[in-house]
Amino acid sequence: MSRRPPERAPAVPFNRPYVTGREFDYIREAIDAHHLSGDGAFTRRCHEWLERQAGCRRALLTHSCTAALEMAAILTGIGPGDEVILPSFTFVSTANAFVLRGGVPVFVDIHEATLNIDETLIEAALTPRTRAIAVVHYAGVACEMDAILELGRRRGLPVVEDAAQGLLATYKGRPLGSLGQLGTLSFHETKNVMSGEGGALLINDEALVERAEIVREKGTDRSRFFRGQVDRYTWVDVGSSYLPSEVVAAFLWAQLERAEEITAMRRRIWSAYHEQLADLEGQGRLRRPRVPGDRTANGHLYHVILPDAGARARALRLLAERGINAIFHYVPLHSSPAGRRYGRCSGRLARTEDLAERLVRLPLWAGMSDDDVAQVVAAVRLAV
Ligand SMILES: *Cc1c(COP(=O)(O)O)cnc(C)c1O
Repeated sequence: MSRRPPERAPAVPFNRPYVTGREFDYIREAIDAHHLSGDGAFTRRCHEWLERQAGCRRALLTHSCTAALEMAAILTGIGPGDEVILPSFTFVSTANAFVLRGGVPVFVDIHEATLNIDETLIEAALTPRTRAIAVVHYAGVACEMDAILELGRRRGLPVVEDAAQGLLATYKGRPLGSLGQLGTLSFHETKNVMSGEGGALLINDEALVERAEIVREKGTDRSRFFRGQVDRYTWVDVGSSYLPSEVVAAFLWAQLERAEEITAMRRRIWSAYHEQLADLEGQGRLRRPRVPGDRTANGHLYHVILPDAGARARALRLLAERGINAIFHYVPLHSSPAGRRYGRCSGRLARTEDLAERLVRLPLWAGMSDDDVAQVVAAVRLAV
C-alpha cells in the first residue's frame, strides 16, 4: 500500500504578496477618521499619486482592473453589436468588460517578440461596427503605441489601454495607461503594487472625466455634490458602485508610497533571471523576453518560451517535482468556450496559438532571495 506524500508548500512559490509594514497603521488611521466608505482621505492620496505619476486628467480607484475595464466599456459607449479590437492573448476581463455591454470582441494576433497585439493587423480587422481598440501591455512592456494611437485618431476610435501589469513602466518615457483615451490598472495580489483586489481607471481624455465620476458613483452626480458644485445629488446616468472602501485605499496607499522600491526589487529579480538564462537561449533551449529599446518594463513577470508544447509540459512537470511553482497562461480567448460564443477572429491567430502553448512564467515577487532565484534557475537548467 502506498501512502500519499504529505502536502507541502512549494520550495519556491509562484507569488508571495509583498507588504510594506505600513498597511495596518493606515487602516487604523482610516478607522480613527470615522470614514470607511469610498473617496476619503486615503483614496484622495492614491488619486493624487496616480495623477502625478501618470500625468492623466483624472485617476479613480476601482475594485479591480476588471471594474475599470467595465467603466471603460460604458465610457466608450459600447452597445449591442459594437465591435472592439483586442488581442486573444490576454486575461478574460479585457474581453468580458465589453461583452457585458453587448459588444463583440474581434481578436487580432500578437507579435512574436513582445506577445502584444500586432498593430499592423488592426486596420484589416476594422469594420463599420468597430467602436474601440483595446490593447494590453503584456508583462508591463508597452505595445507599439505611436502606430496604434495614430490609427485610432485617423479612424475616430478611442484606444483603451489595459495596463493591468504596467504600473511604472514606460513607452518613450511616458507611463503606461496615460497614452490612450483611457487606461486601466490592477492592484490584484499578483501585481507589483496591490491591495488584495483593486484597480484604477486613468482618464486621459478631459471630455470623459465628469461622466467617469458619475458612472463610478452609481450613476449619480454625488462627486459634484461633495465638491459643492450642485446642492443635491441625484440619478443622472447609468452606473454602478465601482469605488473601493477607505480600508482598501489605506492598504493601497502603504504600497503606492513604496511603489518605486517595490518595482526596483522586482526589476532586480527580472534581471537576475535574464542574465542567468542567457546561455540557455544561446543554446536554443528557450527564448527570453524582449524589451524594445524605447520602452522600460517594471519587472512584473518573467516568462520564457520553450521550443514546443511537449517541452513546456515536460518542463512544468520537472519544475513542480523540484518544488518550483512555475505556471503558464493564457488560454487564448478565441479558443475558449465564451470567446467562441461572444467573439470572432480577424484572420488566423497562428502566433497566439503557437506561443500560448510554449510559454512558462517563472516565480517572481518582491523579496525573493538570490538563493530562490538560483534554485529556480538550477531547476530550469535541468527541465529544458
Ligand atoms: C490582472 C489582469 C487583469 C484583471 O485585473 P483584476 O484587478 O484582477 O480585475 C486584467 N487584464 C490583465 C492584462 C491582467 O493582467
